[in-house]
Amino acid sequence: MTYQLPNLPFKPEDLSALSSPETFEFHHGKHHAGYVKKLNDAAEGTEYEELDLEEAIKKSHELNNTSIYNNAAQHWNHSFFWNCLTNPEDSNLNGEIKTRIEKDFGSFQQFQDQFTMAACSLFGSGWAWLIENADQKLEIIQAANADNPLINDQKALLTIDVWEHAYYIDYRNARPEFVKKFWNVVNWNQVNENLK
Ligand code: MN
Repeated sequence: MTYQLPNLPFKPEDLSALSSPETFEFHHGKHHAGYVKKLNDAAEGTEYEELDLEEAIKKSHELNNTSIYNNAAQHWNHSFFWNCLTNPEDSNLNGEIKTRIEKDFGSFQQFQDQFTMAACSLFGSGWAWLIENADQKLEIIQAANADNPLINDQKALLTIDVWEHAYYIDYRNARPEFVKKFWNVVNWNQVNENLK
């Protein structure tokens, strides 16, 4: 199969509480598009052409095929990240995820503090993830570079991209400011869907 860049599931101007349209133009139109192109180039004429994206990630990780793995995982991570974002009016914590966060972290505030800390303290490039682990407990993990919960058979629920390209245009080096604004635009309805 040929891997495709998905359209953003929102209008960039609706996400101004997080990032400028210019950031989305570069982050989606250059960085994410670049991973998709490099993935298709690396997969051409190989067995990876026959695999779906999640299979390609798992197999290339197992076989340490970094040119497939890095680009396939970054394609998946970015597609997942876009779906975690929505305009502030539609960002309201509700439903099963609210109950589970309060149960597993004590309170939303404690979860938010821990996730913020994970995102801000990750050294170098990578992602902070909220996942459901094998014991059906919610957990926060840090993942370097392209890594994601799929490679550990964990269920991904929410993520934030903390590669510099995610925030440098609007926030320069101030990653904590970007992470703080992220809480205005989390698509909790999607996180509830991810939990199912
Ligand atoms: Mn990115």
